[in-house]
Amino acid sequence: MGQSLRPAPGTYEEIHDLNWLAKRKVFPKELSCDRGKLIWGLFMDIVSREVRSRMMAGIRGSDTLPEMKVRKLLHRQGFRYRLHQRDLPGKPDVVLPRHRVCIFVHGCFWHRHPGCRYATIPKTREDFWQTKFDQNVKRDIRNRDELLSSGWRVIELWECGIRGPEGGMNWLLETIPDCTQKYVSWPNFSDLLVPSDQLTVI
Ligand SMILES: [Zn+2]
Repeated sequence: MGQSLRPAPGTYEEIHDLNWLAKRKVFPKELSCDRGKLIWGLFMDIVSREVRSRMMAGIRGSDTLPEMKVRKLLHRQGFRYRLHQRDLPGKPDVVLPRHRVCIFVHGCFWHRHPGCRYATIPKTREDFWQTKFDQNVKRDIRNRDELLSSGWRVIELWECGIRGPEGGMNWLLETIPDCTQKYVSWPNFSDLLVPSDQLTVI
């Protein structure tokens, strides 16, 4: 009879069914291109929501690898600190009350490390990502400014720098007691960025 076994278009069953197929990378031939895109979009939404929440859980997790590296370094050198102090703006990852220093360990992708090669923009759903990134950056700036204006010093450590060779972070041990340094962002690539209108084309 050639009767389609597919559920009616637009129903929950159809979407569920197509998701199942999409996961296995099988697309029904009779699906029109537009409809295929629509369903694919819904499917990607579901996938990215899962991936996203896993990633979000990762960044604020208290025991991320880069953060552990920083904590170990400080602890070895006799610095005493508190972790994720909730009553401070942005819940700084490491707080050194004696030096009035807050340290944030930032993932380059989520927090948009300026000039960093890890601060990429995913090729699909660019607007969605851009909005998300803008929110993160704004939140970070707001937290940092609040801390600075209430007398805290702020040190931002980016994950790409922490992943570097052991010993590359020894500057931190001198910076923490140095109360002339109110705000440090490391590594800082933004000095290397040349605005496009200042570029000389040869
Ligand atoms: Zn980076």
